[in-house]
Amino acid sequence: MSERIEPRLTLVGAGPGDPELITLKGVLALGRADVVLYDALVDKVLLQHAPKSALKIYVGKRNGSRDNPQEETNRLIVHYALKYGHVVRLKGGDAFVFGRGAEEIDYAQKFGISTSVIPGITSSIAVPAGQGIPVTKRGVSESFWVITGTTSSGQLSSDLRLAVQSTATVVVLMGTKKLAEIVALYRQYGKSSVSIALVQNGTTAQEKVVAGTIDDIEQKVLASGIGAPAVMVIGEVVKESPQLMEIYRETLALQMP
Ligand code: SAH
Repeated sequence: MSERIEPRLTLVGAGPGDPELITLKGVLALGRADVVLYDALVDKVLLQHAPKSALKIYVGKRNGSRDNPQEETNRLIVHYALKYGHVVRLKGGDAFVFGRGAEEIDYAQKFGISTSVIPGITSSIAVPAGQGIPVTKRGVSESFWVITGTTSSGQLSSDLRLAVQSTATVVVLMGTKKLAEIVALYRQYGKSSVSIALVQNGTTAQEKVVAGTIDDIEQKVLASGIGAPAVMVIGEVVKESPQLMEIYRETLALQMP
């Protein structure tokens, strides 16, 4: 007789990009997976932590599917858990930071599937860190906001207007297409000289960075060809990066009479 299937779901944050930035707990969970469902932003090297016998299924964007991809993913989680047992859902960064992890948990629980969550290192903190940018620093920034550039309706989050008026570091995810809007908002509040950096494919070999001020960033992004997926960091902490300091020194020098 075959073993009884015990359906369960473990959401695992895969970290920001570099496959060494997953947690030990995440690696151990992968080792006990019957099925791994992984996203587009996850390095496939991580699948090597799962048993050879485990099914490994990509659930990133599927072209030609009529279904809402999220609903389809939810259904796949339940289907595989009931059929094979332990599903590890491997998601970029941390599953609860714009990762729709909570929706997957809620859905699985409706089917009586037991769930657990293993936090991941979120790109919102780790990608700036990879460029030497501290999201907080004593005397420079007392807090940080992590805001989405693309809400469920496709709009820039209205929270940004509040954040712009504060002295907080602002980190925008999924915001590269909204750069013009973001810049306009900072200008509206007289903050054209605030520092800003965009980091594409942070913590990976394909990492690219561009840094400047609200005033010149659009032109610099155009010239560099930087695009999604990118983390945007806005605030004076950007200047605190030893790697980027040089850029600001040059800008200051250019402004000298
Ligand atoms: N749950 C994830 C975020 C998912 S939203 C986390 O905690 O990191 C996806 C967005 O995250 C991307 O559009 C981009 O803005 C950002 N992102 C994720 N990984 C990134 C990386 N390696 N480099 C730059 N941006 C990244």
